Amino acid sequence: MFKGVRTDSESRCIHYHLEKDIVSIKFYCCGTYYSCYKCHQELSDHKVIPWPKDSYDSLAILCGACQTELSIGQYIKTSQCPHCTHAFNEKCELHYDIYFCLSAEDGGTKAEGEGRSKTRRQSAEGKGACEGNEVKIDARGKGEHGRHTGRGE
Ligand SMILES: [Zn+2]
Ligand SMILES: [Zn+2]
Ligand SMILES: [Zn+2]
Repeated sequence: MFKGVRTDSESRCIHYHLEKDIVSIKFYCCGTYYSCYKCHQELSDHKVIPWPKDSYDSLAILCGACQTELSIGQYIKTSQCPHCTHAFNEKCELHYDIYFCLSAEDGGTKAEGEGRSKTRRQSAEGKGACEGNEVKIDARGKGEHGRHTGRGE
């Protein structure tokens, strides 16, 4: 049902394995469920492409406790499974931008003084918002070179 590195039956993996780490996420790039983005990184051969922001209705979250699929929109609004009420790890929020392309402008602040005569230039290239969104994972295990053995005269 999902892939991952050393997963258990509730989709915890080698990277995230607390009690609450039970969701797996379907990745837009390959349509495959992984326990986390690091698992994706290790097991797939391509970079993560986040869900476009109009895909809130897509079922892309799997509760590992009850195997219910949630939509992205449901998931980001809750901190527990609406079906089995198992708590989700709220820290996943930190990684939302890896999985989903969320818009910063969700109807929040509107119109700052329309009467201004200053022409505000709209950036013509607003489209790139999500594109630079690649996941950076630093290559570990490069080995620690450059260690000085300072003594030894
Ligand atoms: Zn993928
Ligand atoms: Zn993982
Ligand atoms: Zn559940």
